[in-house]
Amino acid sequence: MKKNIKNLTLPELQEYLVSVGESKYRAKQIMLKIFVERIESFDEITNIPKTLRINLSENFDISSFANTKSQHSSDGTIKYLFELKDGSSIESVLIPCEYTEESKRNRKTLCVSSQAGCALDCTFCATGKLKFKRNLKASEIIDQVLTVEKLTKSKLTNIVFMGMGEPLLNYDNVKRAVELLTNPEFQLIKKRKITISTSGVIPKIIQLADDKLPVKLALSLHAPYQELRMKLMPSAEKWKFEKLIESVEYYYRQTKTPVTFEYILFEGLNDTISDIKLLSKLARRVPTKINLIPYHTIEFTNPTGFSAELKPASKGKIQWFRMELLKNGVQSFQRTSSGLDIDAACGQLALKSLNQSNKQ
Ligand code: SF4
Repeated sequence: MKKNIKNLTLPELQEYLVSVGESKYRAKQIMLKIFVERIESFDEITNIPKTLRINLSENFDISSFANTKSQHSSDGTIKYLFELKDGSSIESVLIPCEYTEESKRNRKTLCVSSQAGCALDCTFCATGKLKFKRNLKASEIIDQVLTVEKLTKSKLTNIVFMGMGEPLLNYDNVKRAVELLTNPEFQLIKKRKITISTSGVIPKIIQLADDKLPVKLALSLHAPYQELRMKLMPSAEKWKFEKLIESVEYYYRQTKTPVTFEYILFEGLNDTISDIKLLSKLARRVPTKINLIPYHTIEFTNPTGFSAELKPASKGKIQWFRMELLKNGVQSFQRTSSGLDIDAACGQLALKSLNQSNKQ
């Protein structure tokens, strides 16, 4: 299989060009054509010699996907299924014109995948039931963005790594994709408009802090103490609660960027006044806001054991929980359930229904 040219940084492309007897400066011309003009064939790069165009076509691919399908929700959300060249599939979700209480403006956010499947098996997540297939290349992450912009003929304002996979377990490729996406010369996504959401991979949170990538960090917390967190997210057994919070404090000290805690509310499990007290205590340790997320059913994956027992907290309970956090001085927001009717809401991505939908 040919290498995708979008996986190369500018110095790597320069090095390749020099190795085939071409001038270094051609690298920038090529990258601008790919990322700014969004050409789809090397033949369209008319400002480089024909021999180089032929060389690039013989040695590189431009596109990552063999096939794209989509499914539209009544609330405007669109779920995309991308079939990769090796036959694996991933999903992305476009949440258009989302007015958030927090930003007080419209946003067009794409929720991207970082892995095909996921190894972590969080009890509330449909993707975990698919098991891990492989890490995505940087090009496969970037192409989710470029393809959705092309299909919708519009510009995305925000990217969130909350689709399939644990982004920090594919650190190098995610970092490479973020660096290319936020490169000011390519005008793709503004710095700090990308959020990386992690289940809590401590060594990589520390690396992210040291690397000072221009992103925001979100932590899938879901429980304010170790024991319950381990039940909900088996990976918490390895990455212990106290160390995890210390890594988040370190991240804040290094980057001065507040961290978002994601918190799915489950009826009778993590929705009590004592949970609010613990969360409020955590929120005093590091500047944060807490996003309260309704639990979305994953019955279609036929869950068993603890997973099958999970129930969503009622709307009233979520509102009460939020008010109590606010009373304690904790910034808290209620996330909507965009795309629920097409199984595109948080935790529901499982390549389920798109296989029957139409090709784009
Ligand atoms: S919530 Fe994220 S980390 Fe957990 S299984 Fe799902 S995709 Fe993986």
